[in-house]
Amino acid sequence: MLYIGCHLSSSKGYENMGRQALSIHAGTFQFFSRNPRGGAAKSIDPADVARLREIVGREDFGPLVVHAPYTLNPCSKEEKTRNFARMAMEEDLARMEYLPGNYYNFHPGSHVGQGTEEGIRLIAGMLNDVLKPEQSATVLLETMAGKGSEIGGRFEELAAIRQAVAPELRDKVGICLDTCHVHDGGYDIVEDLDGVLQEFDDIIGLSHLKALHINDSMNPRGARKDRHAKIGEGCIGTDAIVRILRHPALQGLPCILETPQEDLSGYGEEIKMLKSLYKGEEQL
Ligand code: FE
Ligand code: FE
Ligand code: ZN
Repeated sequence: MLYIGCHLSSSKGYENMGRQALSIHAGTFQFFSRNPRGGAAKSIDPADVARLREIVGREDFGPLVVHAPYTLNPCSKEEKTRNFARMAMEEDLARMEYLPGNYYNFHPGSHVGQGTEEGIRLIAGMLNDVLKPEQSATVLLETMAGKGSEIGGRFEELAAIRQAVAPELRDKVGICLDTCHVHDGGYDIVEDLDGVLQEFDDIIGLSHLKALHINDSMNPRGARKDRHAKIGEGCIGTDAIVRILRHPALQGLPCILETPQEDLSGYGEEIKMLKSLYKGEEQL
């Protein structure tokens, strides 16, 4: 089962995102929990969310992915920035309960000179403070390209964050694998997908992999750049992307396109192409 969709704008509300997704035959989608540059969250209209829930339930969507703002940095050197991360995540997770059982994806953050170990300690510390055993959302750590002092460029770092979360809360923490990011981080998903997934399984455990970000990359493997390309227009290529979508260990996960499209129809065409290649007979 392929649940494929894309990042959508929430500016016209929740029901509107459901309608946008249906119009491009998406089976999931992602949206920002609030302005990606940070700031206060818009208040939720429960009737609007209820209409989205109705669409999602009726149309057999995969889980939805809510993306935290980019400015959220739980391992910043600045206490003010760390406090914003904590406050925003706590508030966002409370809002997630309007759409129960879905995913909240965030970038682990940049330690800006404090070191990876301290960064991991701070990220896990925030999770231990804001996660609640009764929440229905699963929080996802996104695999990162490892640019600058970014944490999450290595599977070991994500595993260490999960391990530092209290055992009774650890089930609330999963992983979202971004194909552009892991490629830029040096993992060879083009020539050795099985090897990369084996490594993921050994270090983190594939059962904790909950979502995929499907992007091509403008840069060669290991570049640590994080510049997304349209599928087939980058260094990963369409065949490798389709092998990922078809991989037996990755079935049923929501697959979110974050490619640089000018408009919704660009995503529509990408979804159509990938669905047909996914189903096709060709050996890739
Ligand atoms: Fe992201
Ligand atoms: Fe991503
Ligand atoms: Zn990215």
